[in-house]
Amino acid sequence: MVKLHDLYFKPFVSEQELDAVVQRMADAIAKDLGDEVPVFVGILNGSFMLVSDFVKKYPKPCEVTFIKLASYEGVKSTEDIQRLIGLTQDLTDRTVVILEDIIDSGNTLEEVHRIFKNENVKQLLIATLFYKPEAYAKDFKLHYVGLEIPNKFIVGYGLDYDGLGRDLPAVYQLKTTQHMTNIVLFGPPGAGKGTQA
Ligand code: 5GP
Ligand code: MG
Ligand code: MG
Repeated sequence: MVKLHDLYFKPFVSEQELDAVVQRMADAIAKDLGDEVPVFVGILNGSFMLVSDFVKKYPKPCEVTFIKLASYEGVKSTEDIQRLIGLTQDLTDRTVVILEDIIDSGNTLEEVHRIFKNENVKQLLIATLFYKPEAYAKDFKLHYVGLEIPNKFIVGYGLDYDGLGRDLPAVYQLKTTQHMTNIVLFGPPGAGKGTQA
């Protein structure tokens, strides 16, 4: 178990499993792209560890760059996406593959589509290590998904909780005890709203 700030997290995806999932994604994308030399675009900060491992496993020549967006506050996604570092290179007629750590509400992905709308790329493909289908509220196609996961907050392998946890080599899931569930999800005990499923 891992404690970050005030919350506890339990093991969820091991280093070995992550390794296998990232390898599968790299092989699948390489197979589909044939002789095309793609530009992989990592979305910082969360994707830094994925991108590093992914491009080492990618079996063919490729280019790598990053853009930096931020949407999360604490353990909640917000709709207000900030562009912190934009594109710095011409991607006209290139095959661009977005590498995301996780797709949750899809708000960040919507911003990515907005950013690439006027770039005249040959094709824009979306690859994400984690995907929360229950939280996804957009229609953009996800071309490559590593793992579908339940709608619970995770940390590690690039993903943080208020700055902590990005450095963990494996992924951990928020542990919701009876006590924490009452406080975090349903307000103070006795508020009369909601019971645990
Ligand atoms: P979305 O915009 O799809 O709601 O969320 C995308 C971004 O929010 C991700 O790239 C990631 O940075 C952050 N995020 C979404 N779900 C989680 C989660 O379970 N844990 C952490 N640490 N960050 C998340
Ligand atoms: Mg991200
Ligand atoms: Mg974050």
